[in-house]
Amino acid sequence: MNLQTKKCFSCGLTKPLSEFYTWSGYKDGHQGTCKQCIRYYQEHYRKTHLLERRATEEAYRKRNIGILRRASLERRAKIRLEVLAHYGKGKLACIECGFDNLLALSIDHINNNGNKHRKIIGSGHIVEWLKANNFPEGYQTLCMNCQFIKARKQGKKDEV
Ligand SMILES: [Zn+2]
Ligand SMILES: [Zn+2]
Repeated sequence: MNLQTKKCFSCGLTKPLSEFYTWSGYKDGHQGTCKQCIRYYQEHYRKTHLLERRATEEAYRKRNIGILRRASLERRAKIRLEVLAHYGKGKLACIECGFDNLLALSIDHINNNGNKHRKIIGSGHIVEWLKANNFPEGYQTLCMNCQFIKARKQGKKDEV
């Protein structure tokens, strides 16, 4: 029969030894923290650990979405270059004047049903559409100036 008691380090209560897990590290053969306190800390640890893990997973997920989004933008930019070069007859430049600032280059519908066509495939997707359709004929790479001049010549814009 063991009536020995021990004061818990953690909660400070004096409890019978049976309320402490055995551990050979102490002279009395029992841990310094009572069972109840250990259970409490284990539970607490599990909960905080779970929250931390969830936060880590969330951060990981967000980072991955960022990577995917960037990859898709890069993919689109690459396709745009490919399509512009194809319709620029091998050069990344306007086929009319040679202007080569990529920011002002675009794909022109040679027979001018561009607006109608854009409505069908959705604006901004023409470049992807052209690539997906194996570079159909009837398009050319033009700079904005030449697009504008062409439209003017065809009387599509008001004369000044
Ligand atoms: Zn305790
Ligand atoms: Zn041009």
